[in-house]
Amino acid sequence: MNQKQKNLLIRILVAAVFFVPLYLISEKIVAVELPKWALLLLFLIPYLVVGHDILRKAFRGIRNRQVFDEHFLMAVATIGAIALGEYGEGVAVMLLYQVGELFQSIAVGRSRRNITELMDIRPDYANVEEDGELRRVDPDEVEVGSVIVVQPGEKVPLDGIVVEGSSTLNTAALTGESRPRDVDVDDEILSGCVNMTGVLKVRTTREFDESTASKILNLVENAASRKSKSENFISKFARYYTPIVCCGALALAVLPPLFCMITGVGLESYAAAGALWADWILRACTFLVISCPCALVISIPLSFFAGLGGASSQGILIKGSNYLETLSRVRVVAFDKTGTITKGNFAVTGVHHSPLEDEKLLEYAALAECHSSHPISKSLRQAYGKAVDQSRVTDVEEIGGHGVTARVDGVSVAVGNEKLMHRLGLEPRPCHHAGTIIHVAVDGAYCGHIVIADEMKETSRRAMAELRRAGVEKTVMLTGDAESVAKKVAADVGLTDYRAELLPADKVACVEELLKNCGEKRRLAFVGDGINDAPVLSRADIGIAMGALGSDAAIEAADVVLMDDDPLKIAKAIRISRKCLRIVKENIAFALGVKLVCLLLAATGLAGMWLAIAADVGVMILAVLNAIRCLFVKDL
Ligand code: ADP
Ligand code: MG
Repeated sequence: MNQKQKNLLIRILVAAVFFVPLYLISEKIVAVELPKWALLLLFLIPYLVVGHDILRKAFRGIRNRQVFDEHFLMAVATIGAIALGEYGEGVAVMLLYQVGELFQSIAVGRSRRNITELMDIRPDYANVEEDGELRRVDPDEVEVGSVIVVQPGEKVPLDGIVVEGSSTLNTAALTGESRPRDVDVDDEILSGCVNMTGVLKVRTTREFDESTASKILNLVENAASRKSKSENFISKFARYYTPIVCCGALALAVLPPLFCMITGVGLESYAAAGALWADWILRACTFLVISCPCALVISIPLSFFAGLGGASSQGILIKGSNYLETLSRVRVVAFDKTGTITKGNFAVTGVHHSPLEDEKLLEYAALAECHSSHPISKSLRQAYGKAVDQSRVTDVEEIGGHGVTARVDGVSVAVGNEKLMHRLGLEPRPCHHAGTIIHVAVDGAYCGHIVIADEMKETSRRAMAELRRAGVEKTVMLTGDAESVAKKVAADVGLTDYRAELLPADKVACVEELLKNCGEKRRLAFVGDGINDAPVLSRADIGIAMGALGSDAAIEAADVVLMDDDPLKIAKAIRISRKCLRIVKENIAFALGVKLVCLLLAATGLAGMWLAIAADVGVMILAVLNAIRCLFVKDL
């Protein structure tokens, strides 16, 4: 509890100590005779102790022409009650209202803190090495290319490359995955991980603001500002609800007694006209108390906020509450193949029909691919095994969905699929081996092909089953790879459909067609790795990028970012969103239902202000507790 909350608690306790005996006296439960004016003066003590700040805020509200704020409503209702001689009611309402305020500020503060703790990746300092000595500096001040030292137990402050030492990293805060990761010299290392075992020297490759930890924190912090429809609905609702109920209050205060006076109906049950008016005005004051939409206004955004926080603790970054809403309605999921369903680690399984030596063919291929970030290119370079001398390569051109062309040692080289060969007017030799076939042409002549095979991710199959369990009706793979490969992968992991040999633009067209078949209510998600599928990511209802650690393109283009590359997280994200939306709906229904009942009871005089405020505070507390459940999504 902070100081402000403590002060409020003390005021509440003091006021309650005063209030209870006075209430017993005023209700004639304790027989003490007090003149009415003395009772009023005594009641004003707890009233002012607990409510003076509300009165002040209400007054300020009137001056700023913000008439319908909750302080104003509370002030009018309680002053009205006291003026009508219902001292106990007036003070009790103020007291309970403040109890609610206190609870709410504690709950909101706590859940915010929880979320920032979950995302505990902000580095506080960096150790820079200078003349053999370590200096602790703000990570903000470290320039790209400096060497920093990360000791065991410390957070890695900036992205970089390990230049000395080896260690094990804990990436749980980034990925939600507790599996440790080993790093060695020349490995890339990302800020936000915790160094566990050895001392590492790291040459930084990015400034603090550009580093992974800062980017992710930014993303999470900005997420809450992208409002969902439910949140917009609630703020719009509150804008109309409060004035409408206030007008209702005015009507309730004036019309029924006026009607009685004119027609004489029901007048006999009141001793005097004054009592008639007092009764209805009091009911109207109760209306004012009920007109605060507190529970909704607090609990709905809190639910979304907690949902976003819960998801990020699992390594699922959702860029806004609106995406949480879309995610909950996903019924069709389209996938990229390489790097999404398969590992994207191709192993070369054979080199065929080449007049050149296998080594030489691989060398041409690896050199031509030296600038590409495609998984195929990385694998070819890995298979080649030697360092690539980039100065031997010129005129590199990468053609999406085809491959690359370049000049190596001045000779033109083309590396890619059948389409690329046809484009160059060459006839590739067909291959009967299973796998992705990479054809190579050197100096305008067909020069054989390299067969590479990818591995399925261990969890792909289970991920599809989980998706089906989460209510996804259709899983479609969109790939640029050959029909035979696509067919095998689709059957192996249990996809409902696949499309092969697509160019990047065809993928967009495919997604558009799938979107058309989705209808009004169902939503389509596209899952990719962000390498050459950014247009599809943004075209789908919701774009999910996986394996985002280290890939900026993916973080930028996607709406949902899965920090590691586990496809199981897709179903998990959907389940988290469902849970969150369900809680939001529960809260809306519960709060509105109770409000409606209270309004009816108040209008008919069955419920007094006491009950109204107790119901309100009670609903708010329950709704906030319910909202906080969104944080707990680990076992979903
Ligand atoms: P996907 O990610 O669905 O496998 P891509 O559009 O990334 O599809 O690639 C489709 C096909 O284009 C690959 O299977 C490959 O044949 C060819 N290709 C794309 N980029 C390259 C590259 N850099 N080197 C060789 N072939 C490539
Ligand atoms: Mg791809």
